[in-house]
Amino acid sequence: MKVRVIVPCYNETAILQRTIDKLQEILDIDAQKQGYTYDLLFIDDGSKDTTIDILQQAAAQSSVVKFLSFSRNFGKESAMIAGFEHSVDCDAVVMIDADLQHPPELIPEMIKAYVEGYDQVIAKRNRDGESAARKWMTRLYYKMINYWVEDIELIDGIGDFRLLSQRAVRSLVSMGEYNRFSKGLFAWIGYNTKIMSYDNVLRDAGESKWSFKSLLNYAIDGLISFNNKPLRMMIYLGVSIFGLSLLYLIYLLIDTLLHGIAVPGYLTMIASILLMGGIQLISIGIVGEYIGRIYYEVKQRPKYIVRAANVAQPKKEPLDIPYTNHIQLDDKE
Ligand code: UDP
Ligand code: MG
Repeated sequence: MKVRVIVPCYNETAILQRTIDKLQEILDIDAQKQGYTYDLLFIDDGSKDTTIDILQQAAAQSSVVKFLSFSRNFGKESAMIAGFEHSVDCDAVVMIDADLQHPPELIPEMIKAYVEGYDQVIAKRNRDGESAARKWMTRLYYKMINYWVEDIELIDGIGDFRLLSQRAVRSLVSMGEYNRFSKGLFAWIGYNTKIMSYDNVLRDAGESKWSFKSLLNYAIDGLISFNNKPLRMMIYLGVSIFGLSLLYLIYLLIDTLLHGIAVPGYLTMIASILLMGGIQLISIGIVGEYIGRIYYEVKQRPKYIVRAANVAQPKKEPLDIPYTNHIQLDDKE
């Protein structure tokens, strides 16, 4: 059995060495105990600091350290898919952040669950130590997104820290889309899934790459990137407004027939112009958002460009995702 831990790193000089040591320390012991071999694949996402030097040094010292370095910063989504594409032959793959916010102590437990037969083992964090406003906004967001996106369920606190079986990894790789919203993709592939909880850890060193604006954009991505429901909602909205306007017009007509023409109506006029203008702009924005995505998809650009690596290039032919002839575990909980 071969296990690989994938670690996306962007400007992580401050903490990377500690992460490498910690992962090796934990996995050396556990690999012996549970009887598997492992390696660590670090994806240097175009870091501008000494991240790549640390990685090269670590790779020279230990053969379990593998790395992949991008030609520029492509974002964590690209780093993750690069990691998966290069790991389709591993039996199990663990995705973990470089900043020790995802406790590596959980990995042995995840591997145990994988051996039991789970294809996805997810670590779920609580939100201790976060501001009340942020907690509230997150809750609202998950309510909203689960209402919109019907085909999958997103769960608060579940991020990218998880173990995936080989077929789960291959399933993810088989989704060739350019605009990747991993939270959704992970849920979309399905398979039997185990969730384990851990306490939220605040970042020790270095800083988070998320600003409020990037979080907002991420939220919109989540809403738009999954299906065409927002477009469908526009139709509903349009039909409702049309229906209401029709009723209002009939009322005005009858009123005029009964009482003659009343000229004042400035407020209703301004209100309808502004409201309709706003709704139209939002609608065009949503349509534009979809067109933008189509634009990026049809260009078929690579999702990342590798400038250096000490792992083999992934093969280009389509992967098969083998069927099993019995089901070991069924998640009916
Ligand atoms: N990361 C990356 N590319 C980016 C931004 C972040 O590979 O463009 C990595 C980063 O090094 C870390 C992980 O993604 O390992 C999570 O990033 P961060 O800690 O900034 O996010 P947060 O934990 O605040 O969600
Ligand atoms: Mg972090």
